[in-house]
Amino acid sequence: MKFATKTIHAGQKSDPTTGAIMTPIYQTSTYIQASPGDHKGYEYSRTGNPTRSALEKNLAALENGSYGLCFGSGLAAIDSIIKLLSPGDEVIATNDLYGGTYRLFKKIFQNYGIKFHFTEMSDLNSITDLITTKTKMLWAETPTNPMLNIIDIKKMASIAKEYSLLFVVDNTFATPFLQKPLDLGAHIVMHSLTKYMGGHSDVVMGGVVCKEKEIAEKLFFIQNSCGAVPGPMDSFLILRGIKTLHLRMERHCKNAKEIAMFLSNHSKVENVYWPGLTSHPNHDIAKNQMADFGGMVSFTLKNNKLQDAITVVSNTHYFTLAESLGGVESLCGHPASMTHAAIPKVEREKTGVVDSLIRLSVGIEDIGDLIYDLENSLQKI
Ligand code: PLP
Repeated sequence: MKFATKTIHAGQKSDPTTGAIMTPIYQTSTYIQASPGDHKGYEYSRTGNPTRSALEKNLAALENGSYGLCFGSGLAAIDSIIKLLSPGDEVIATNDLYGGTYRLFKKIFQNYGIKFHFTEMSDLNSITDLITTKTKMLWAETPTNPMLNIIDIKKMASIAKEYSLLFVVDNTFATPFLQKPLDLGAHIVMHSLTKYMGGHSDVVMGGVVCKEKEIAEKLFFIQNSCGAVPGPMDSFLILRGIKTLHLRMERHCKNAKEIAMFLSNHSKVENVYWPGLTSHPNHDIAKNQMADFGGMVSFTLKNNKLQDAITVVSNTHYFTLAESLGGVESLCGHPASMTHAAIPKVEREKTGVVDSLIRLSVGIEDIGDLIYDLENSLQKI
């Protein structure tokens, strides 16, 4: 099955009792047993629910994996992956991670004896220099949030192999339509399904996919034991959103390209970050490992004034000022005061999250309207 067919069919069958074409929302917490242990594969909806199972199978197919698991949010998915580790273990992670991931690592898991190192992952030496016998996991996000840096997944996978480390990729920004980390050697791929996968800004959910049975069994145990599972209604909505993933992503990428070009030629703009620009430092890696360059564009303003950035994001009309990304509607955000406010100023500035940085989640509206909107608000500076 090819990707576009998988988005619509993988994991899904018409309802055997009624023939309903759409996967039913099995809004039930429990299931009849004819005698103890004699059931149809489902006992209790924390452990398994048919709507969630359809989505989990669909995700596994899209990522070319074997096992999929869904969680109540992207962070709940990350939480479950880190629970594969034990006190004393160490993780090496990308230095410009999503702020919530950084917060979970530093403010929660560090208290349980797991240590995190954050480094510039495009410099492979900076990774190998940090590896000790305590290192158990490499954690990469690519493209990164919000600087749109690109990490070479194949090279990371070969380091993971050499040192016998688990290699996890947060594939939220790219989606499996643009990038398949498991094919490039990652062990685990995770998503905030809240974003492009759901695509309509109406659900918060996380997903994890892997190929190896041993990893999957441990993750299933954690999913069932800790219980951060999504409900059937939300699973249905993500399944429905995924059916148009390929079409939406094509349009997100096309619109983002136009916006990146427009901003690159704008007199009030200092830097534009989009991996499709040939000036992007990792453009060649992006070209190799991604089918296109994604719908996220970040930029800074000349003179780097906080107030100018606030003026721009407060005066757009179609780019709504809001947290999150990946929906059909365009959003804009100010990472320093919003998504990345949890990261200390000195730390965030080291990675480029300066006061005038603006992040755009370019939607699938008419490109003329979007450019007009940005031009208008840039003129307010
Ligand atoms: N990973 C990335 C790259 C994100 O951007 C986010 C949220 O913005 C998350 C993980 C966390 O996902 P959620 O908000 O669904 O918990």
